[in-house]
Amino acid sequence: SGKKGDISREKSAELYEKAKQYFPGGVNSPVRAFKSVHGTPLFIERGDGCFLWDADGNQFTDFCCSWGPLILGHNHPKIREKVTKTLEKGLSFGAPTALENELAELILKHNRYIEKLRFVSSGTEAVMSAIRLARGYTGRDKIIKFDGCYHGHSDSLLVKAGSGLVTFGETSSAGVPKAFADETLVIPLADREAVETAFSEFKGQIAAVIIEGIPANNGLLIQEHEYIHFLRNITKENGTLLIFDEVITGFRLGFEGAAAHYDVQPDILTYGKIIGGGMPVGAYGASAALMSHISPDGGVYQAGTLSGNPVAMAAGIAQLTELRSSGFYKNLNQKTAEFAEAIQRYAAAKNYKVNLVNVGSIFWFAFTSQTTIRTAGDIDHGSMELYKVFHRELLNRGVYLGPSGYEVGFVSAAHSKTELEKAKRAIFESLDEVFRH
Ligand code: PMP
Repeated sequence: SGKKGDISREKSAELYEKAKQYFPGGVNSPVRAFKSVHGTPLFIERGDGCFLWDADGNQFTDFCCSWGPLILGHNHPKIREKVTKTLEKGLSFGAPTALENELAELILKHNRYIEKLRFVSSGTEAVMSAIRLARGYTGRDKIIKFDGCYHGHSDSLLVKAGSGLVTFGETSSAGVPKAFADETLVIPLADREAVETAFSEFKGQIAAVIIEGIPANNGLLIQEHEYIHFLRNITKENGTLLIFDEVITGFRLGFEGAAAHYDVQPDILTYGKIIGGGMPVGAYGASAALMSHISPDGGVYQAGTLSGNPVAMAAGIAQLTELRSSGFYKNLNQKTAEFAEAIQRYAAAKNYKVNLVNVGSIFWFAFTSQTTIRTAGDIDHGSMELYKVFHRELLNRGVYLGPSGYEVGFVSAAHSKTELEKAKRAIFESLDEVFRH
């Protein structure tokens, strides 16, 4: 215990200098640049089980898990084997394969909430297509999204809250036309009145309400069951579709994701991350009737050169097959709950202002003493300075969390009790450092 020296980042720094010549910010996705935490971004060399190794040979217990897909950990032998066998037959055909049927069957047989689905190559694409389907089906243009939910980077969804309770959104990225933002209403989570006001002000104009199964992109904002059922009822009454974005929660909270967690039937569900076993896969699904509006059956166009890619399907099949094994989620969720409770107890005993929010195998360190955090407005942005210190102390003790305090962490099946125990010690010591002053 006590102060630790910083890990070596020499090789990572060298690679980062090169990368900056090639990519904006030196990265292919912004958060990877470590802008919200200390130091050079770590370049990863390999992963195995719950471990990661960077270019300098530092070893970490990984709680980022590629931002969620790796629920079995890195380099799982069953996935590796299936992928290797598949790629020996060719990488892509742009034509149907039996593997797509196999993955679809595995999902649809065990998911009560969708009857048909379409595979795409990312979460962004899945959600963008779901929105188009909702608009095409209802013949309406407006959608409601919630402040603090992230749904990928399509134009309609890069929109943040305006100033009033219910307002047209404002673009959250340069390059998104104002006319697009005008079609997206952004309202606070956990606020029934805001939803009711939106529906009365824009009567008959709202195609869909979209919400993350459990909002997990801006902290972990767990919603009340009653609120979700309220959303289900008010959308139904208004002929509006309810879209559950389960890119994180799908196959994570349980095989049937957040829909089963809340016992609610959304109209369209979107998936990504876990469904592809670490390969680029997304999907959206709905009732057969609703999906019949998708091309070539219906008038809503959506396509993809690499959609249903055989190697990606193989990874998904291998991963989802493992998730079907009995007790899988019970063990994983229980292991995570024990881990989170132990940390919470430690922090409480020391009077540290930190709240470890946990649902299923998802967790989030909120540097606040507030115990219920349901909206983006509840997050203390100033506390991100503490996360910065925490992140660095953790890296120095061999624990890897996402490089931003707004991001959640994930426990995988590969995190053994022994490794979780070690990680817990590292977390205790790091919290001691964060709150030393
Ligand atoms: N929806 C949600 C809920 C997500 O968490 C994400 C990614 N973090 C996306 C959509 C976008 O997925 P992708 O990054 O695969 O495009």
